[in-house]
Amino acid sequence: MTVSHYFDTMDYGPAPESDAEARQWLARHPEGFSHFIGGRPAAPSAGARFDTFEPATGAPLARLAQGSAADVDAAVAAARAAQPAWEALGGHGRARHLYALARLVQRHARLLAVVEALDNGKPIRETRDIDVPLVARHFYHHAGWAQLQEREFADQQPLGVVGQIVPWNFPLLMLAWKIAPALALGNTVVLKPAEFTSLSALLFAELAAQAGLPAGVLNVVTGDGATGAALVAHPGVDKIAFTGSTDVGRLIREQTAGSGKSLTLELGGKSPFIVFEDADLDAAVEGVVDAIWFNQGQVCCAGSRLLLQEPIAQDFIARLRVRMQSLRAGTPLDKAIDMGSLVAPIQLERVRKLVEAGVREGATCFQPDIALPAGGSFYPPTLLTDVHPASTVATEEIFGPVLVAMTFRTPDEAVALANNTRYGLAASVWSETIGLALGVAPQLQAGVVWINATNLFDAAVGFGGYRESGYGREGGREGCFEYLKPRAWAARKPRPAAAPQPAAEAPSLDLPALDRTAKLFVGGKQARADGEGVLSVLSHAGRLVGEVAAGNRKDIRNAVAAARAAAGWSGATPHRRAQGLYYIAENLALRADEFAARLVSTTGVDAAAARVEVERALGRLFAYGAWADKFEGAVHVPPMRGVALAMVEPIGVVGVACPDEAPLLSFVSLVAPLLAMGNRVVAIPGERHPLSAIDLCQVLEASDLPAGVINVVTGRHDALLPTLAAHDDVDACWSFGSAGSAALVERLSTGNLKRTLVDHGLATDWHDDAAAEGPAFLRHATQVKNIWVPYGD
Ligand code: NAD
Repeated sequence: MTVSHYFDTMDYGPAPESDAEARQWLARHPEGFSHFIGGRPAAPSAGARFDTFEPATGAPLARLAQGSAADVDAAVAAARAAQPAWEALGGHGRARHLYALARLVQRHARLLAVVEALDNGKPIRETRDIDVPLVARHFYHHAGWAQLQEREFADQQPLGVVGQIVPWNFPLLMLAWKIAPALALGNTVVLKPAEFTSLSALLFAELAAQAGLPAGVLNVVTGDGATGAALVAHPGVDKIAFTGSTDVGRLIREQTAGSGKSLTLELGGKSPFIVFEDADLDAAVEGVVDAIWFNQGQVCCAGSRLLLQEPIAQDFIARLRVRMQSLRAGTPLDKAIDMGSLVAPIQLERVRKLVEAGVREGATCFQPDIALPAGGSFYPPTLLTDVHPASTVATEEIFGPVLVAMTFRTPDEAVALANNTRYGLAASVWSETIGLALGVAPQLQAGVVWINATNLFDAAVGFGGYRESGYGREGGREGCFEYLKPRAWAARKPRPAAAPQPAAEAPSLDLPALDRTAKLFVGGKQARADGEGVLSVLSHAGRLVGEVAAGNRKDIRNAVAAARAAAGWSGATPHRRAQGLYYIAENLALRADEFAARLVSTTGVDAAAARVEVERALGRLFAYGAWADKFEGAVHVPPMRGVALAMVEPIGVVGVACPDEAPLLSFVSLVAPLLAMGNRVVAIPGERHPLSAIDLCQVLEASDLPAGVINVVTGRHDALLPTLAAHDDVDACWSFGSAGSAALVERLSTGNLKRTLVDHGLATDWHDDAAAEGPAFLRHATQVKNIWVPYGD
């Protein structure tokens, strides 16, 4: 026997963590668990309970309360009652509570880790070393934001009562990601954990109450999707923060449309793991293990699509198969295992079926010959090769330990393949050439990119999706804004009903010549509308002052196509974008008198007020010219050797419906921040006074904006807005105008989950810089991508 023989054959004996303390805690709830409302357990009002099971054995674990609408109502009432005092406590007071919660997590780390492993089926090694430490880190970090709130978010205020719904894959971590920022910034919470895994939330709530968290600040209502739906529907909730599947996210968007509730969605993914030929292949193999077998692949940002550069593909697959052979699956409390159980038999069945479908569609399936415990919901690590990019397993989120592999030849092909998904949560790039890796990262449509690493998380580094992986960020400064609203917006009042249009007077011969049928502005030039229809534009006194084209669906589609084609603007340097805006301002200044006269003749304001509006529009163009190269990202220093680069990126093509009031200033106030940040715009001017926007198109034509960067389609909003809001090539849609338009935009945004910014019929004072200019708009005009760059050997 040689030493190397022992090394090769050495096996690990079981190293079980004790579950005694966790079982004692469970035994203290012999009747089953209740909700946690107003600082204490609250039995389900309808008396309904359901069983949950230990995934690794299938044995019953606990009885949980099934939340009814009445339970949700009681929890929302408790949260509402607690909110004013919690907000009034101030940043420092809340910081102390958050700090206490962080300490509490550390004090009870072992119990929390064991409960989580028992309840979810994941290895104790992960709950102990990853989930629980990240939970504590999240509370510490957000204790800091609470402390700094009055200084760093002085112009913001909390939203109020927040409903939060989380999935089963990281029950405690998702709780922390949700409640830490919400509570830190002065909101109170009703949390609905996933029905499979509610125990750590109930334990946390109990411990938090013992630690002195005021009653009603954190409420937990357990139950299934119906309980979640009741929370979403509750009129007393100011915001819904949801993490879960894209389908349910879409449903929630539809159900909250027009309600005025703010919404963040952290949804599914199908993240690429790209290995270039110059990568450190052994490191990348270990990366794959972390990417897809961490938490049995039940990870929203799992690197589930392995993209290999052709020259190394065979070698890489061979090494990966060898590595898979040494993975150990076993009971979650064994500290020596790599993989535990899937969460439930239903999930096991789903994974099985998807793998079968993959094989039917031509994939080759490899599963190592490793032992799986009997019973429970264990599934082996699985590698599918010979996978077509359009096949089910390459496009559907499997949410299990299943990796699909494909190959590419060039970096461009890698980017195209990586982005060939409706999702956009995360991506991993492996290359020893820093220029290549950092060149590829900005081209990937994903909220998080890891260079030569995977599944790194930190409370200071925002996490969240692009495209159908949802919107909003958790963690970091950007995550804080998801639980705040600008004070200036909170003060808005419903827009006064518009005075009825005066009856049109017949034009008389001594009137100045009419501007007959102004054209649309599409692809950098004036364009004739598709239909023959025209809209009369009347002055405030009912005089006919012009006609504009009544655009139709086809005009919107043409405008969107032109905006899509102008992708170069999104890659233009901030300096170049600033120059574009200053140039528009310069040209507008040359024609200031003409624009003022137009405002007088159309809106009826006096000459001085019109002049002020033109001056403010000029000022706003200058302001966004200034912001273009100053609204920047950040360099985070998470606890590792490396940095995370928070890049501020444009959203893409954005549709904007403008209001009637202050027609020049409101148009500029909405379009300029989007252009400054590199978006391309399709704008619909206010219906009543569209001529200022049309005049501005002549200015745009004479400026140096590339064709298609801004497109203007006049017409009736009810005819144009549905097409714009539902268009799959539009990435975001803004609506300022009626409450009905806001609801319509939110409802129709669900197809491709476009980002929305709507005013819900509340009037903005466009002359007030606090309400109408600056970072609040810029944040909506951008999305943050965090690129993790570890360094050192
Ligand atoms: P799910 O959408 O079925 O359930 C998530 C939560 O929503 C659960 O608490 C569930 O009870 C609740 N729910 C179900 N129907 C509802 C309804 N109609 N109204 C309100 N609430 C409802 O998702 P899941 O299967 O539990 O979790 C897996 C999904 O979560 C995956 O798609 C995964 O990618 C995603 N996920 C995303 C992130 C992220 O940060 N982006 C993190 C973890 C998981």
